[in-house]
Amino acid sequence: MRKKLVVGNWKMHGTRAANAVLLAGLKELGPWNAQVAVCVPFPYITETALAVTGTAVAYGAQDCSAHEQGAYTGEVSSAMLADLGCRYAIVGHSERRAYHHESDQLVADKAKAALAHGVTPIVCVGETLQEREEGRTEEVVKRQLAAVIHTLSHCIGEIVVAYEPVWAIGTGKTATPEQAQAVHALLRQQLRAATHKADAMQILYGGSVKPDNAAVLFQQPDIDGGLVGGAALKAADFAAICRAA
Ligand code: 13P
Repeated sequence: MRKKLVVGNWKMHGTRAANAVLLAGLKELGPWNAQVAVCVPFPYITETALAVTGTAVAYGAQDCSAHEQGAYTGEVSSAMLADLGCRYAIVGHSERRAYHHESDQLVADKAKAALAHGVTPIVCVGETLQEREEGRTEEVVKRQLAAVIHTLSHCIGEIVVAYEPVWAIGTGKTATPEQAQAVHALLRQQLRAATHKADAMQILYGGSVKPDNAAVLFQQPDIDGGLVGGAALKAADFAAICRAA
């Protein structure tokens, strides 16, 4: 039986004061049956680590460099994330693919760099609205995942996958449980062809997950939890989603 995982992606939100309130709220409202983590902006990792000490909440980053170290101004290596105790790093979020032109191969290289330092990459895949309307959802998500499978090879079983349809992110338009389940099943099938661990791997759904739709999404056979944006910024909402998992 796969354990459910709920990850809050704070994106570029927060202040030291607001984060302290949010994390204190989670501390009070937890623990949950699901595994729970927050992926916070780089400058807040250390304070997050201190705030969640002694709780079941893990923490991580929202990106990492594909490079080991060196003259890469502004980048943060996975070795640094490991040094700070990060359990996870989101890689290939659609916002990075779109605004920072991250290719499938770069995303795969980032995932490899994270794993090399014991940081679990949460690899995001997902189609745009146009791609869905053109009937290309399967082709797009499979292409995105294939690059990671090819690059990680026998380590592929160590990652977390997140299916985030771009049209559902921050729009209030959630994929229906059936739409999401169909893609999750495809992704797991693709993983089965690459690793015997596929049935133990966590595949998260992301895109307008809220307290009132979380339970039905998480009940789908291949949906193992959520990657939560907006609703992760309020302790009560995020806790309710964690409870639903
Ligand atoms: P929302 O939950 O705000 O739609 O964001 C989803 C997301 O992008 C999480 O990574």
